[in-house]
Amino acid sequence: MSHILSLKDLPLKGKKVLMRVDFNVPLTVDGKISDDHRIQMAFPSIQYILEKGGSLILMSHLGRPEGKENAAFSLSPIAKHLSTLLKKEVKMAPDCVGAQVQKMVQTLLPGQILLLENLRFHSAEEDPAKDPSFAKQLASLGDCYVSDAFAAAHRAHSSITEVAKYFPKASAAGFLMEKEISHLSAIIQAPKKPFYAIIGGAKISTKIKVLKRLSDKIDAFFIGGGMAFTFLKAEGRAIGKSIFEPLYLEVGKEFLALCSKKGTPVYLPEDCVIADNFSNEARTKIISCKEGIPDGWIGMDIGQKTLSQWMQILKEGATIFWNGPMGVFELPNFAKGTTILAKKLGNLSCQTIVGGGDSVAAIESLHLEKKFTHISTGGGAALEFIEKGHLPGIDALTNSS
Ligand code: AMP
Repeated sequence: MSHILSLKDLPLKGKKVLMRVDFNVPLTVDGKISDDHRIQMAFPSIQYILEKGGSLILMSHLGRPEGKENAAFSLSPIAKHLSTLLKKEVKMAPDCVGAQVQKMVQTLLPGQILLLENLRFHSAEEDPAKDPSFAKQLASLGDCYVSDAFAAAHRAHSSITEVAKYFPKASAAGFLMEKEISHLSAIIQAPKKPFYAIIGGAKISTKIKVLKRLSDKIDAFFIGGGMAFTFLKAEGRAIGKSIFEPLYLEVGKEFLALCSKKGTPVYLPEDCVIADNFSNEARTKIISCKEGIPDGWIGMDIGQKTLSQWMQILKEGATIFWNGPMGVFELPNFAKGTTILAKKLGNLSCQTIVGGGDSVAAIESLHLEKKFTHISTGGGAALEFIEKGHLPGIDALTNSS
């Protein structure tokens, strides 16, 4: 039988615990961490390992250094931040493999933490076939392997799928990984009904598979953001200069037809905020989507009428899954649809699961994190997990017994 061990199943006392985390956090131009949600979410596993007397070796990637050492992508600022949060020293390794790193690991005492330098300074991290010895060297640092990097679990990278192979009975899911799997599995396996999905963001192309996968379970879809315009166009509405994917027009039509056949309502925006150019300073108007967007104007956000109508239905939901902003929320004049939705969902008492990405940024900017049942740390990973029901980085933790 195969199963995934929990961190709680591993003997940790006196062990060197090699844990893959996803500390790929956004940094400001001067190298400060602008959002530490992912670091905070790894805390329960970090603290547990230290309390149980393990020596913790953390490994992560940061940004896209393209297989080369690059100081701009060093994890040093993360080590400092983690040290401040934990109120204890976090040692920083000069690399993630090599003699110097091995020495640092050998002298690491129980309760101490070492953060390895950016895994992506080595091209074999993203392309394991390039150098299988890279994963072997990483694996040689630990007595056991823990993965808490849900946000990177959709990548078959050395530190994710290959390192786990060296620990056939000693690899486990960390607490964040378990939490993500449990909340997202519940959505695809047995969601409490009525189950509603609110999907936004720029494009249909990146989300259509998830929409299709959810269509078997869902009681109604609410579609906002830029992707709504391809659907509106598929319904024959005028969309002006709004973002639109011509190649997905047929796909949009097919999806609407599929939902109609199943009797699953798909709510598109009733009204939207339009702008005469793509900027915060643009002239704006609110229009009815049925009447259509005039030539030259761009749909930038959902309107208040849409929000009120949607909330009448959403407030009766037992489970709500939300992924993607309702408008160009980076521009303050077009953020209302997303921020008001976040506030209103935060006030509901039902299960509210947010599938990573930009919707998380909106929730965090309003400090509403605690008002949601679960906010996934992985945008792409959460969507792929819902779509396929598994991820390479989770499959890799499957131990045979
Ligand atoms: P995604 O990563 O697919 O969730 O898309 C997020 C992006 O969608 C954000 O950068 C938003 O600015 C963008 N977006 C949302 N609504 C619109 C819109 N009406 N027009 C253009 N871009 C949009």
